[in-house]
Amino acid sequence: MTRHIGIFFHYQQGERLRDFPQALDGILQDHRTMLYDAHYPDKPPAGFQLQELPQDLLCQVHAPAMVAQVAKSELYQSALYSAGGVVQAAEKLRTGEIDNAFVFTGCGDHHAGWSFYGGGCYLNGAALAIARLKAIGAQRFAIVDTDPHHGDGTWDIFAEDESVLYLCLCHNPFTEQNHNVNIPIPWHTTDEDYMNLLGREVAPRARSFRPEVIFWNWGYDGTHGEYGDIGLSRDCHHRMAVLLQALADEVCKGHLIAVLCGGSGRKVATYAIPRIIRRLAGIDDHI
Ligand SMILES: [Zn+2]
Ligand SMILES: [Zn+2]
Repeated sequence: MTRHIGIFFHYQQGERLRDFPQALDGILQDHRTMLYDAHYPDKPPAGFQLQELPQDLLCQVHAPAMVAQVAKSELYQSALYSAGGVVQAAEKLRTGEIDNAFVFTGCGDHHAGWSFYGGGCYLNGAALAIARLKAIGAQRFAIVDTDPHHGDGTWDIFAEDESVLYLCLCHNPFTEQNHNVNIPIPWHTTDEDYMNLLGREVAPRARSFRPEVIFWNWGYDGTHGEYGDIGLSRDCHHRMAVLLQALADEVCKGHLIAVLCGGSGRKVATYAIPRIIRRLAGIDDHI
């Protein structure tokens, strides 16, 4: 099966993505990949244009007072492009232009709630994309959050929303509320145990919920040596991609949007991200 992956990338300062987009050499030339990039303030010519997030969408997900506060941050533009990539990925998935996506971000996502933000997160890209998809007719969504920290912002936004299955793998105790589920992970685990947990706790819930799209809030800060180290190896991320892609194939025509969340090290990013993208594009089918 041929699938087309949209890669949403905005050029940014900082350590973790310093090797990109060069680290995608050999991937971007493949006919299955489509790059949507943005370079601000002066973007070089490219085939596609990554759009900044529309302002009217912002206040559907975040309180106006919070948006005003975020707008004062020096990372505001980066936050707009990061969340804009997730929204645009969802739109292009909906029109069939792409089958799945990987969104590079400068700032996350899951610690940004209705009226609060923090932990390097300014706007909630997945929530903004879901608001956009609802406006154009989609009804059911899943977010699988494998960043090891609790996604308090995403939980807050969807606490009363039954159209979203939010599966958060973190250190909080098991809780379930309106399809928001905390799936506890130990402080130290192994790739094997973590993958078993995904297969046991995430897959059956997604199957019975039947979302139209799965957002994968992927943080690599749980990798050995990272700031949220739970003992995962750098190879575990590719295994997660294999599992989640198979799950998306089964329940929602392969509609999977991977969103880069936590993680600070350049080495893990440069190792893991191209492997995930190859998997989502089907370039590594021989592995
Ligand atoms: Zn959690
Ligand atoms: Zn994290």
